[in-house]
Amino acid sequence: MTTRAGRHFLQIPGPTNVPDRVLRAIDRATIDHRGPDFVDLANEVLAGLKPVFGTEQPVIVYPSSGTGAWEAALVNTLSPGDRVLMYETGHFATLWRELAGRLGLEVELIGGNWAGGADPAAIEARLADDRAQAIKAVCVVHNETSTGVTSRIAEIRAAIDRAGHPALYLVDTISSLASIDYRHDEWGVDVTVGGSQKGLMLPPGLGFNAVSEKARAAAASARLPRSYWDWEAMLAGNAAGAFPYTPATNLLYGLREALIMLREEGLANVFARHDRHAEATRRAVRAWGLDILCADPAEYSSSLTAVRMPDGHDADALRQVILDRFDMSLGAGLGKLKGRIFRIGHLGDFNDLMLAGTLCGVEMGLSLVNVPSRRGGVDAAMSYLCEEEH
Ligand SMILES: *Cc1c(COP(=O)(O)O)cnc(C)c1O
Repeated sequence: MTTRAGRHFLQIPGPTNVPDRVLRAIDRATIDHRGPDFVDLANEVLAGLKPVFGTEQPVIVYPSSGTGAWEAALVNTLSPGDRVLMYETGHFATLWRELAGRLGLEVELIGGNWAGGADPAAIEARLADDRAQAIKAVCVVHNETSTGVTSRIAEIRAAIDRAGHPALYLVDTISSLASIDYRHDEWGVDVTVGGSQKGLMLPPGLGFNAVSEKARAAAASARLPRSYWDWEAMLAGNAAGAFPYTPATNLLYGLREALIMLREEGLANVFARHDRHAEATRRAVRAWGLDILCADPAEYSSSLTAVRMPDGHDADALRQVILDRFDMSLGAGLGKLKGRIFRIGHLGDFNDLMLAGTLCGVEMGLSLVNVPSRRGGVDAAMSYLCEEEH
């Protein structure tokens, strides 16, 4: 094993760098989750999560990865054989689709080219055609982490409404929550799926469902088997500051601290910081002479940027050199994008100099593996970061 001095740069789009404050908060004795001290912790985090989702409705917290929260959203609201409409934005949308299929749901997928977001007009047209209202849910990934493309969640809500369709609206915000503006209540989302290890700045291990009244009503008659994921048991416990089974107590300490940090900075400032780092990154990519995968600037992700490799060059070879030489992890191309792109994560606990260091590592890596590209990306990013108005 090689020893390495200094900090590892974890610039994948999740898990993200965990702030020292959160690490210190987690590093405490685990308490009795049925004892009196726990109730205060539970009440504080359950209330504190609501503004992060933009909701006044309950947010359920599972000791799970994001994938568990995906499953929870489906098994609580749907019945075997129900038809769900999904949109192929990229690898994560595809994984959610496969999960839904394994649960016994009938998935209808609107195809996509992995460079754009979900198209509200295509969803509207499909729902308008569904006169029998066989489609029970529309599932969209807000920030497609495999491509660095966001979908327009409010516009899709408006499209569902224009079609006059009663389907539930389920949205994956695992890599957008606390990084990109999101409003569960205002945008009429029925279930918002979240995870701890991306914008929320925590280690992996917590999954979230924010649930609307309509979603809870659907749960009352939904017949997919569920036990561990059952909302009603959770909500009944949570009402008294408790959980039906052992919660991830130490991660909840970390969550409490992360929520305090988000409140201190202010969510609007958190979003602006992510927007600014994303723009600086895109300027670097353009100065290198490389292309951003996301086709439409209106859909750029503020939590990560996916960069196309010039033909004949392997993105994984570049990532390997950057890891070996500079101790920095970058995101790989997933699924059909393997080797063709690399992804720069710029979300979570992140500042200007961390971004500058990240871009330096990429720029040096590009020259080490002789990718046809120019220097000057870091300069372009620095110039942008120094402009007054940002
Ligand atoms: C990370 C991610 C997931 C998967 O979450 P896990 O915690 O790995 O289960 C799902 N959807 C999106 C958009 C993600 O970024």
